[in-house]
Amino acid sequence: MSTKKTGTEADSQGQTIAELRRDRERREKTYRERALKIYPWICARCGREFTGKRLRELTVHHKDNDHDNNPNDGSNWELLCLYCHDNEHSRLVDEGWYNEATPGSEQKPPSTYKPFAGLETLLKNKK
Ligand SMILES: [Zn+2]
Ligand SMILES: [Zn+2]
Repeated sequence: MSTKKTGTEADSQGQTIAELRRDRERREKTYRERALKIYPWICARCGREFTGKRLRELTVHHKDNDHDNNPNDGSNWELLCLYCHDNEHSRLVDEGWYNEATPGSEQKPPSTYKPFAGLETLLKNKK
């Protein structure tokens, strides 16, 4: 087996996307640890208790859905198990858990869409 490492591209100035992501992950890990120190390891919704390896299933929910709002007293956090967390967000129709899209901006397809618009010209050209 050969694991070749080609060059070091990470020494250039400016943060790469990977670095930003790592930074974010680190931050998330930190606030999770902080939240776990403040709150009992219990899901705030279903009341299940989490210990040991299962603690991984306990996640930090941001009450205002702003993942960058991490006050030291933990007032923006809520510990939820994966299931309740999922539930919470599908209930709120909040995309923020998965990406940074603004919630509540449901997009409808424009009503000007004509399904046979292309067909018309197609028939015209056909002689
Ligand atoms: Zn739960
Ligand atoms: Zn959440």
